[in-house]
Amino acid sequence: MNLKLKDELNGATHSTNPEPKPRYGPKHRGAQELAQLYPRGKWIQESISVTLCIILMLVNTYFIGSRIKLENLATLFTSAVAGILTADFASGFVHWLADTWGSTEVPLLGKTLIRSFREHHVDPTSITRHDFVETNGDNFLVTIPFLGRMTYQFLTLNEQEIKHNFNLYCFLLLSAIFVAFTNQIHKWSHTYYGLPRWVLFLQDCHLILPRRHHRYHHVAPHETYYCITTGWLNWPLEQIRFWPNLEKLVTRLTGHLPRTDDLKWAKRM
Ligand SMILES: [Zn+2]
Ligand SMILES: [Zn+2]
Repeated sequence: MNLKLKDELNGATHSTNPEPKPRYGPKHRGAQELAQLYPRGKWIQESISVTLCIILMLVNTYFIGSRIKLENLATLFTSAVAGILTADFASGFVHWLADTWGSTEVPLLGKTLIRSFREHHVDPTSITRHDFVETNGDNFLVTIPFLGRMTYQFLTLNEQEIKHNFNLYCFLLLSAIFVAFTNQIHKWSHTYYGLPRWVLFLQDCHLILPRRHHRYHHVAPHETYYCITTGWLNWPLEQIRFWPNLEKLVTRLTGHLPRTDDLKWAKRM
């Protein structure tokens, strides 16, 4: 990692340069511009997604919960862990994709999705000022097709067919819950005051992303520790240099360099 660039982007000052550079935060010029790009009307779409998703989660939890037996607890646990790991990897992959490639000018996804990732790097505290809907709308939306299909199958398949698919349903439900709440968990990892005790407990047990763990990602140029659900996969992925190798492959195939748009916003002080 280029240490000079790292210091510059973090707003660090050197003895040879008495002029303090602005740090990241709500006063960063790029952050202010990015906040204004949040499309009007998106909040309404997001609140519909959140409501629908919560209804589907409750319905599917009831369908699964009413069929749990002592003899299937072990497979249920295995499916649940696999579901959580899948959600953690998915959070890392989408985060890496949005942080590393594309720009706010990309049609459809630029202002709706990529914008929020750019804003988060130049103003990491902005997420703590977003309400529940703005924080979670995108992630809740993604899970609706999977949860909807599961509800449809519980309503239409016979008991034998449901029994056959039961482990898959447990896996999908846990994946969906953790994917949906990923950004809420991420928001808690940036919240240093007023967190409920049960959230602190889950963070301390590393059942959800701990605050200290997520700080590794927020060192410019934001090139590691992308998994933000539990963060369980960050260390192993770092050991095999998963993200840098993937970036080299993309650059070789497309000619694009990683994080060019992210760096552009970071320098807009
Ligand atoms: Zn990031
Ligand atoms: Zn963050």
